[in-house]
Amino acid sequence: MNIKNYINGEFSPPLLDDWIDNYNPTSGKVYGQIPNSTKEDVEKAYTAAKSAFPSWSSTSLEKRSQILSKIAQLINKKLPELARAETKDNGKPLQLAKAIDIPRAAANFQFFANAITQFTSDAHESIGLDAMNYTLRQPLGVVGCISPWNLPLYLFTWKIAPAIASGNCVIAKPSEITPITAYLLGEICTEAGLPKGVLNIVHGLGTTAGQAIVEHPGVKAISFTGGTETGAHIARIVAPMFKKLSLELGGKNPNIIFADCDYEEMLSTTVQSSFSNQGQICLCGSRIFVEESIYDKFKKDFVTAVSKLKVGNPFDDTTTIGALVSKPHLEKVMSYIENVSEYGGKILFGGNRVSVNNFEDGYYLQPTIIEVNDNQCKLNQEEIFGPIVTIMPFNTEEEVLDMANNVSYGLSATLWTNDLKRTMRISKNIHTGMIWVNTWLLRDLRTPFGGTKNSGVGREGGFEGLRFFTEPKNICIKY
Ligand code: NAD
Repeated sequence: MNIKNYINGEFSPPLLDDWIDNYNPTSGKVYGQIPNSTKEDVEKAYTAAKSAFPSWSSTSLEKRSQILSKIAQLINKKLPELARAETKDNGKPLQLAKAIDIPRAAANFQFFANAITQFTSDAHESIGLDAMNYTLRQPLGVVGCISPWNLPLYLFTWKIAPAIASGNCVIAKPSEITPITAYLLGEICTEAGLPKGVLNIVHGLGTTAGQAIVEHPGVKAISFTGGTETGAHIARIVAPMFKKLSLELGGKNPNIIFADCDYEEMLSTTVQSSFSNQGQICLCGSRIFVEESIYDKFKKDFVTAVSKLKVGNPFDDTTTIGALVSKPHLEKVMSYIENVSEYGGKILFGGNRVSVNNFEDGYYLQPTIIEVNDNQCKLNQEEIFGPIVTIMPFNTEEEVLDMANNVSYGLSATLWTNDLKRTMRISKNIHTGMIWVNTWLLRDLRTPFGGTKNSGVGREGGFEGLRFFTEPKNICIKY
């Protein structure tokens, strides 16, 4: 499938007619080409976005809301097609794309279609001074949205929906590794009646197309989700330009399991929080800490449960683990397995590539459990972002809190316990942006989403997202 840029409501080839191969990770084969866009394509997208802005920013909230709802409906209507495209492009099980990725992309549009009609600004009466202040929340203008490959349409739309709901015009770039559903979104937006130029989708490499969006002096804000190193690089570029910046970056999240938890529920959820989407979710609990008194039992039961996961053809209904997203990523993940003893770990389960019938060149890897005995080892300090978790025991609350916090990342944490006081203490003292207690990845789209430390700056979700994409302007009137 060959795809094109979506600029000013039209599909167009890259101006320099340069293309990049797109791989199908389930088969390891090239199955299409995507534009290798350059600065010139970004400039074209910018011109379209800039000229659409005056009209879009003064379009009524009801109208914007109707168009966003229509996009949501069309995504739901085209769910089977979008889910298959996502699986082919990313390698994730089709069941997952159908149940999570595509419904969530629709929900992102529907949520912000509703939220924008409820988003209000403040008024402050200066009592005794005969003055009234009111604060406008105005759209920024042209903004840039850059997203990664792990949850392609899900994360792409999570940025675009609040940006356009609040009246901005967007230049968006999906990951070059998973561009297809973003391409299909262009068609949907046209069908939904989104005016030309409100959303412009430019495909290509991060270092050229992505960087051109970041560097463009007319782009007022960058909303970025991706790796920590890329985030730091972008921050260095935009800081002296004083752009608004939201960074959702990597994670190395602790999953803390106390003996008093609801054991069976913890066990099944821990299998998911470890290996969903081949472990390629920034929120996966990749460091599992288990209270010593249940450590041996957990180890045995966890290995048994994980051994039942089925690695295979992602289009097959019974598959729970599909292909990793790309060959370089598979090689990166494998390098941790190849050096496991040097890094201080012992493989308890997995560690091998899997050959899948008729998909022999696909990027399949067993879910892998590694036992470690030092939280400072590379396996516990570096984000692997694949189907690998480490496990280690702990004795006291202080010890596990210390290990949970002793890492450069601070995205999320999971805690399993039925002790309320302990829940309150740990939740308060853990250094992450989000904590799930006795559950994992239960999402309410109104809540602030994001991390601390090397996991990023700023929050997405709910009104936080709308605040990011608007500038507060205070007006003080003396009467
Ligand atoms: P990446 O940083 O390599 O790429 C992300 C996006 O940035 C891609 O679209 C890429 O083309 C673009 N990009 C790369 N270099 C750029 C540059 N110089 N200027 C502008 N854009 C550039 O990340 P990835 O490998 O696609 O995604 C995996 C990472 O994303 C992991 O670290 C994961 O934890 C993180 N992630 C974080 C969250 C979160 O919400 N915190 C969610 C999902 C993924």
